[in-house]
Amino acid sequence: TDAIRPLIAGNWKMNGLKSSLGEFEAMIAGAGALAGKADLLVCPPVTLIAGFADRALGSKLAVGAQDCHAKASGAHTGDLSAEMLADAGAGAIIVGHSERRADHGETDAVVRQKAEAAWRAGLVAIVCIGETQKQRDAGQTLDICGGQLAGSLPDGATAANLVVAYEPVWAIGTGLTPTPKDVEQVHRFIRDVLTSRFKEGSKIRILYGGSVKPSNAAELMAVADVNGALVGGASLKATDFLAIAEAC
Ligand code: PEP
Repeated sequence: TDAIRPLIAGNWKMNGLKSSLGEFEAMIAGAGALAGKADLLVCPPVTLIAGFADRALGSKLAVGAQDCHAKASGAHTGDLSAEMLADAGAGAIIVGHSERRADHGETDAVVRQKAEAAWRAGLVAIVCIGETQKQRDAGQTLDICGGQLAGSLPDGATAANLVVAYEPVWAIGTGLTPTPKDVEQVHRFIRDVLTSRFKEGSKIRILYGGSVKPSNAAELMAVADVNGALVGGASLKATDFLAIAEAC
């Protein structure tokens, strides 16, 4: 798996206004020098996707989305289809983030349909999984992650259309991270699941997410079967985001 090209993906969540374009431009400016190391992706709120994507044309920074509806079009007031996000310039869509699973009751079956929607629109699906603190304390981490993988990943995944993000819920936005040993155990488990189910499973990227910062990125990115990071808070600042990419 050493040959897998890392991906550093930023999830801006519900943050960012038109005035954030300068921060994004600073990321574009730094991305070129990092292109030898990793793919870089920023997923801003939908309001900024088209503007950012236009600005990023021809650069080494890709733009993505944070969620989509499973259907291509129709009577779904306020929702956005993968086709619309592709049309706006997104190259990838995060699906199944724990905040969507918790705040919007998204089940594994819904996440799977959204991943299929991303593929239908020709986009990469970044599927998030991860256990809560309570589940970890109960020793259920691998059971929970295994169930989420079985339920959320559609058939037909390839190294080109799927990225899996392991994001322990208790590590998101808390400043807490699992030990490298714990990360390695879960990523190895995910790798085994992917290789036993998909022909290209050994090449599908597995990102770690949860309180990744410039100060801990090198240690986390050095763990076996960690092929990059999904970064929340620290992806809002160009200096932090670029420093994380530098560390991988
Ligand atoms: C996330 O929400 O995907 C995430 C990893 O957040 P943070 O980096 O802020 O913990």
